[in-house]
Amino acid sequence: MNAPTPVLDRRGRPLRDLRISVMDRCNFRCTYCMPAATYGDDYAFLSNAQRLDFDEIERVCRQAAPLGVSKLRLTGGEPLLRHGLPDLVRRLRAIDGIDDIALTTNGVLLDRQASALADAGLDRVTVSLDTLDPALFRTLSGGRGEVDAVLRGIEVARHAGFRDGVKVNAVVQRDLNDAGALDLVDHFRGTGVVLRFIEFMDVGNRNAWSAGAVVPSAELQARIHARWPLMALPPRHPGEVATRYRFLDGGGELGLISSISKPFCGDCTRARLSSEGLLYTCLFATQGTDLRGLLRAGQDDTALRAVLAGVWSARNDRYSELRGRPATPPGRRIEMHYIGG
Ligand code: SAM
Ligand code: SF4
Ligand code: SF4
Repeated sequence: MNAPTPVLDRRGRPLRDLRISVMDRCNFRCTYCMPAATYGDDYAFLSNAQRLDFDEIERVCRQAAPLGVSKLRLTGGEPLLRHGLPDLVRRLRAIDGIDDIALTTNGVLLDRQASALADAGLDRVTVSLDTLDPALFRTLSGGRGEVDAVLRGIEVARHAGFRDGVKVNAVVQRDLNDAGALDLVDHFRGTGVVLRFIEFMDVGNRNAWSAGAVVPSAELQARIHARWPLMALPPRHPGEVATRYRFLDGGGELGLISSISKPFCGDCTRARLSSEGLLYTCLFATQGTDLRGLLRAGQDDTALRAVLAGVWSARNDRYSELRGRPATPPGRRIEMHYIGG
């Protein structure tokens, strides 16, 4: 491919990453994402025909790459519920300019799929795991998950041959799972799996977020440092969302993602594609651009690329920097399972 023609948004930020929600459904009902009371048996998820098919996802990625997208993340909902995911990975891997493909998953189906995904060219996997406590895990997953299944998925993934390895993401909520944070650190230290703690965010409208439930990264860092001294590491690239630390005793690396206490909008290079083909320029967006309509109306690649470039050039989002200010845009935000984490 010729060198990409980078497109900058109104704040001078390039488009580098595309997060693709390949499945709006999930086999969990995490209390902070898809609470069971809202997402019951009669909840209307998308039909297969409403979701972008693999040809359509590939077309969007092929047109995003020349604009500067080099990193893709497959997410959801639960992406491993999407039939044939390794085929999609293989197709995306073949696109000129795409040099990194990651997956975020709750991990329960990973033991069965890790090796096919690694063979297809998936570079890395992030598994979400908020606690090691079996009873609390069951509660947090809305009664649908067993912690042992996730740990098994992580073990299989560790040995599946992903080029960039396995990470574990834990969302921390005060007085819910924060007391077990050090157990998670203890479990993954020295295994090569990088654990990252994420501040609980006010994504969507249904997770009963409150500022009091957020445990600031600085507080967590101090607690971990008191037990296993840490040294901060420099970012590897601009826009890296996690602040990285190294355990001084050689126990490996740890990450802290301070989405609330230290917003990183200034370096945010991420666009998001929902399962039904709406393109969003912020996790907290209230509106997206309908790419599925364009694709199904027979628009050609040039037109598709022009729309992608136009949407990014018009982008001015920085929700996390404005959070709590009176000027923060009102409106109904898109739910996390739908837009992809
Ligand atoms: N189902 C997959 C999983 O759980 O990894 C992928 C989709 S999930 C929406 C992506 C990530 O978003 C997960 O790591 C999850 O913990 C995180 N997440 C969901 N709701 C969140 C919230 N309110 N604050 C912070 N992270 C959240
Ligand atoms: Fe499902 Fe992931 Fe949301 Fe939990 S965080 S309900 S696993 S999409
Ligand atoms: Fe990016 Fe929006 Fe998150 Fe800011 S709030 S870092 S612009 S996704």
